[in-house]
Amino acid sequence: MKTKLVLNFNPEASNLPITHNLIAEYGLLVNILRAEIDEIGGKMVIEVSGDDDSTNKGVEYLKKAGVGVRPFKEGVRRNDEICTHCGVCVSICPTSALILDHETRKVTFVEEKCVACGVCIDACPPRAMEILI
Ligand code: SF4
Ligand code: SF4
Repeated sequence: MKTKLVLNFNPEASNLPITHNLIAEYGLLVNILRAEIDEIGGKMVIEVSGDDDSTNKGVEYLKKAGVGVRPFKEGVRRNDEICTHCGVCVSICPTSALILDHETRKVTFVEEKCVACGVCIDACPPRAMEILI
């Protein structure tokens, strides 16, 4: 089972080796999809792979360690009022979730294909791509 989680770190929790512990102590595979974190705290989006029991134990470990945990459901969205359809994001999206229509010169965002890797968020010149965490 794969589960996407949004983690919120306070200053104390931000220095914990949580990724290492989820892997070593709970046998989970951890894929960091997005991280905005430093020594004073921050947020992270991760995808954990493992059976239900291991995942639940891993989540309990995080909560006991003071890490805020909630399911990642919202995903990534595009602010259509800001997007200029410049096309910068099209070639860098690893899942082809952003598609350029060569006739209309418009870029379509296919949310179902998005894996929230965050690549387009940093690359978009007007910051039209937003991760909802
Ligand atoms: S990079 Fe940003 S502004 Fe350009 S097409 Fe993609 S979402 Fe729109
Ligand atoms: S977050 Fe990643 S997968 Fe989603 S649209 Fe942007 S580049 Fe593509």
